[in-house]
Amino acid sequence: MTSWLELADDEPFGLEHLPYGAVEGPAGRRVPVVRIGPWALDLSAASAELSSSHAPLFAGGSLDPFLAAGGPTWRRVRALITHWLTEAAYRPLLEPLLMPVAEVASVLPFTVADYVDFYASEAHATNVGRILRPDGAALSPNWKHLPIGYHGRAGTVVVSGTDVRRPSGQARATDGTITFGPSRRLDIEAEVAFVVGTGSELGSRVAAGAFAEHVFGICLLNDWSARDIQAWEYVPLGPFLGKSFATSVSAWITPLDALSAAWTAAAARDPQPLPYLDEGSGSPALDLAIEVSLNGEVISHPPFASMYWTLPQLLAHLTVNGASLRTGDLVASGTVSGREPHEWGSLLELTRNGAAPLTLADGTRRGFLQDGDEVVITASARAPGGRIGLGEVRGRIVSAAV
Ligand code: MN
Repeated sequence: MTSWLELADDEPFGLEHLPYGAVEGPAGRRVPVVRIGPWALDLSAASAELSSSHAPLFAGGSLDPFLAAGGPTWRRVRALITHWLTEAAYRPLLEPLLMPVAEVASVLPFTVADYVDFYASEAHATNVGRILRPDGAALSPNWKHLPIGYHGRAGTVVVSGTDVRRPSGQARATDGTITFGPSRRLDIEAEVAFVVGTGSELGSRVAAGAFAEHVFGICLLNDWSARDIQAWEYVPLGPFLGKSFATSVSAWITPLDALSAAWTAAAARDPQPLPYLDEGSGSPALDLAIEVSLNGEVISHPPFASMYWTLPQLLAHLTVNGASLRTGDLVASGTVSGREPHEWGSLLELTRNGAAPLTLADGTRRGFLQDGDEVVITASARAPGGRIGLGEVRGRIVSAAV
């Protein structure tokens, strides 16, 4: 299968991928797009010209109607786009609708309904437990029985490329003094998130095995975390202002249909989880090779396949009490960390809570993020023709508000 577009063999956004996004054109008009190589195809214009039955799904400025349309439509549209991009007859009509990605501004491609963040990496939870509670058990007694999570703030989810303003808040100094000011322990959390397409009824459950019926696709996510604010506020109700100031997501949503070759066996689980967390047969873990860069230098390689709880289990747990799903729900995995130090997905772990700063190539040291620092998270996955590359999530820290 080849496109009439000239694409490199190792193109991360080739025909096997086709992630969706939204961009703002020159006149400020927002349009949903699909990415092919270095271009974004205007789906609003293309579907209006070529496929009247799907055109209403792309007539607005976001992917929301398309996400809500459900699995059969997602697959029909993907097949149609593949057809357009491989049949030379469509070239004259579509070529003028291609925009260089580098020349358009990506916007958040869907309306974030609810945002939930889990804590599904055993290595991460163990590392954090040891750092924050050195005298207690690393994992809380519930950790291997249920996926721990919290409800985050949907309204402060921002698209990749958006600057992140350093938050201010309360913290407790080592001498016990309560202070207020810009966070001094600003951190990252490298995560993977899924985006819900098809909702569910209030009062019903969604089984782990129904993951692909409800979930449209995945993206990368950076759960920026102010550790000093978090450490003081999190007892007893969990994360609050230390995380709600900003959460960055990729500009490109990779459809599950592009990830069929990326599923693998889940990590061994002991004890056996309760039956509602049973994923059934098959390979419920996604094998994504993640890379975290700070100011252009790779600082970590978190392995997503090693997560203790899989994405289908997170979905099953989220709805087991009858909580409904809505189109646009964003559900994140929690920090992805492997066992090895070079696989840890936060500075809290990489620098042992600032005690062992990283030395960057320019000779400067980082316990936590400084103003001007830029963090980029990327990932790749196996695909039928090679590997695809997920849309990066990029963010730069700007100084605190005065
Ligand atoms: Mn997190």
